[in-house]
Amino acid sequence: MQVRVRYAPSPTGLQHIGSVRTALFDYLFARASGGVFILRLEDTDRTRYSEEYVKNLYDTFKWLGFYWDEGPDVGGPYGPYVQSERFPLYQARAKELIEKGMAYYCFCGEERLAKVRADQADSDTSEMGYDRHCRGLDPAAAAARIAAGEKAVIRLKIPLEGTTKFRDALLGDIEWKNEDVSPDPILLKSDGFPTYHLANVVDDHLMRITHITRAQEWIPSAPLHIIMYEAFGWEPPELVHLPMVLGADGHKLSKRHGATAVDEFRKAGYLPEALVNYVSHLGCSFEEGRDIFSLADLERLFKVERLNKAPAIFDYQKLEWYNGQYIRLKSDADLLGLVMPYLVQAGLLAEAPAPEPRSLALGAMPLVKERLRFLADAPIMLRYLFEEPPVPAPEEFIPKKLDKARAAELLAAGGALLPSCDLSDLEATEARYRAEAERLGAKFGDLMMPLRVAVTGSRVSPPLFESIRLIGIPKATARIGRAVAALS
Ligand code: GLU
Ligand code: ZN
Repeated sequence: MQVRVRYAPSPTGLQHIGSVRTALFDYLFARASGGVFILRLEDTDRTRYSEEYVKNLYDTFKWLGFYWDEGPDVGGPYGPYVQSERFPLYQARAKELIEKGMAYYCFCGEERLAKVRADQADSDTSEMGYDRHCRGLDPAAAAARIAAGEKAVIRLKIPLEGTTKFRDALLGDIEWKNEDVSPDPILLKSDGFPTYHLANVVDDHLMRITHITRAQEWIPSAPLHIIMYEAFGWEPPELVHLPMVLGADGHKLSKRHGATAVDEFRKAGYLPEALVNYVSHLGCSFEEGRDIFSLADLERLFKVERLNKAPAIFDYQKLEWYNGQYIRLKSDADLLGLVMPYLVQAGLLAEAPAPEPRSLALGAMPLVKERLRFLADAPIMLRYLFEEPPVPAPEEFIPKKLDKARAAELLAAGGALLPSCDLSDLEATEARYRAEAERLGAKFGDLMMPLRVAVTGSRVSPPLFESIRLIGIPKATARIGRAVAALS
């Protein structure tokens, strides 16, 4: 049997890091078992639907670098893969259940349902939801009312007694009392729109899905779906409910914890490899003592047995660490390609930079590669290469325990030494500055600190001599001169 796994998002929001984790596990599961990965758009909720979200879905996965074998854009043998294009199919299947006596028409209007809810809220009954008012209607009479044009929804008959059992490949055997399953959920609305339950079950069957890998929050829907499979006489797919993704406080990951939309991570300058690598470890352990995995590694290694039952905690710092690792792995040219849009946006480089600023930027890559956390840090770190930094306030130049006059003296000495230095030899240059510090009776750090502030405009910067080598000694000397003047 060929494994077929689907990712079935509802385009009612931007792709969330949690949904991407689901999609990634769907994808890895399919790849690891030589199966097929399918995208199906569950766009039955037309009120929350937006084109923008569909576009975001495609953009996200294109950026992340993994793709489906069947889906709305690439087609496939079981299409269409968009639920809004499949409504007649669901309508026919809902009628099939009516004919089998497994579903029934419900004519209750909103007013009656509201009253049922209000009465339930007022009384101390534990009963919740629909009161099964129309379940007892004579099917022939109901059919006649439909034929006469009356509006109705179609509801699934949940057995009134007994239990529904199913096996989850991760969580094991699960058993629900039927009285705890939502009482007779709607399958088809009166306007002919299917609900999630109907469309999801019908499509998983018609698209020959063999394994459902989805978030644990869907477990309450599972018994209901199993009841539907039984009503249709279909074999249900295997179920794998993935561990939850929580924030550090143990609550479901949400905006309160930080970025959650993939787009936000992308804009901040996370690399897709880092995101994929990190997200793949949310609820899954691949190999003890190893952190870095390419998508190809993950495809090879994924196994349901590697999934954890316990919830995963989303650790923003760990993700940041991964991002740094992947940045360090880039070649200078590749890294420049990645930070270029950020430099352009900050106005530091033109869209198509002239050779000189371009090579300046390229030369700066080795200086920042070890320090960048995200790509968006690059303009902040590199601004002084492209623009004259404003001269900082005098206190910024003064090393601990020294005064302004001494800072000015050290700065002037440091500046005076520069023109005679050969910056192609960083070791020799540093040795000369160490000797100069000794001669002046100063700490090496106290000699360097005001220089750094003068040249880069900040106490923290990429390596100083390499930076000076990039902008050239004359420019650096001029900046030092301005700073000495400001201090005197
Ligand atoms: N459309 C559902 C969602 O938005 C799919 C859930 C499932 O995989 O069954 O997550
Ligand atoms: Zn009713």
